[in-house]
Amino acid sequence: SASIALRGVHKSYGRNTALDGIELTVAEGEFFCLLGPSGAGKTTTLKTVAGLEEPDSGAVELDGRDMTGVEPYDRGVAMCFESYALYPHRSAYDNLASPLRSPKYRLPAAEARVKVHEIAELLGIKGLLERPVGALSNGQRQRVALGRVLVRPARAFLLDEPLSHLDAKLRQAMRAELKAIGDVRRTTTLYVTHDSVEALALGDRIGVISDGRIVQTGPREDIWHRP
Ligand code: ADP
Ligand code: ADP
Repeated sequence: SASIALRGVHKSYGRNTALDGIELTVAEGEFFCLLGPSGAGKTTTLKTVAGLEEPDSGAVELDGRDMTGVEPYDRGVAMCFESYALYPHRSAYDNLASPLRSPKYRLPAAEARVKVHEIAELLGIKGLLERPVGALSNGQRQRVALGRVLVRPARAFLLDEPLSHLDAKLRQAMRAELKAIGDVRRTTTLYVTHDSVEALALGDRIGVISDGRIVQTGPREDIWHRP
């Protein structure tokens, strides 16, 4: 997988400054949590890495390569948003396999099958694969949606509050699963949350973002011990 770096990234929407000089590095294979309140600039940060927004100034690098002008499609990262798009009438299996059939990956069916089963095993949804997604519970659907991102052979995962719509109990269970998946896969992950418990549970390191700036970065132990 790829390392990620943001070097002095600025981004404004009109007079509204979303990112005010973001400096951030995520090492190859690291699970990095970006923690901050609503409006701090978390989603915009992810979008600049994904290439969905270009910085006004500063640069984003993947594996040390400047991504300025590189199309999202060519960056090789997989991003998931707060709200997922699933095909409700199609099976969980199809929902997981369809990204792999897309022109971007074009995996042979047999290989896709292995990957889908691997991710379904990790997410505990192997028994649900034949069911239409519309017939699943919220928590099951959220697992499929997360699986749809994690199944991709991406250089990095960009996850935007993927557990935010779950109740506390389910969130806790999925947190543990995400942690386990992160430990197994070791794919660079930039994970955005406003929930400090979640960040502390998941992040190898945590960056605290406020008003478009990174105000603190460190291993979770350091962040934990500060007020
Ligand atoms: P977070 O993800 O931490 O909630 P965002 O990155 O979504 O924060 O937003 C950061 C700031 O940029 C906020 O003030 C938000 O209102 C503003 N913003 C984000 N996207 C847009 C947009 N498309 N148009 C105008 N303002 C935006
Ligand atoms: P990709 O990885 O290129 O997004 P997908 O198989 O996930 O490939 O999606 C193929 C197309 O279908 C994309 O344009 C995507 O935006 C769209 N799409 C995904 N989910 C839905 C949905 N639930 N309803 C309608 N369109 C969707």
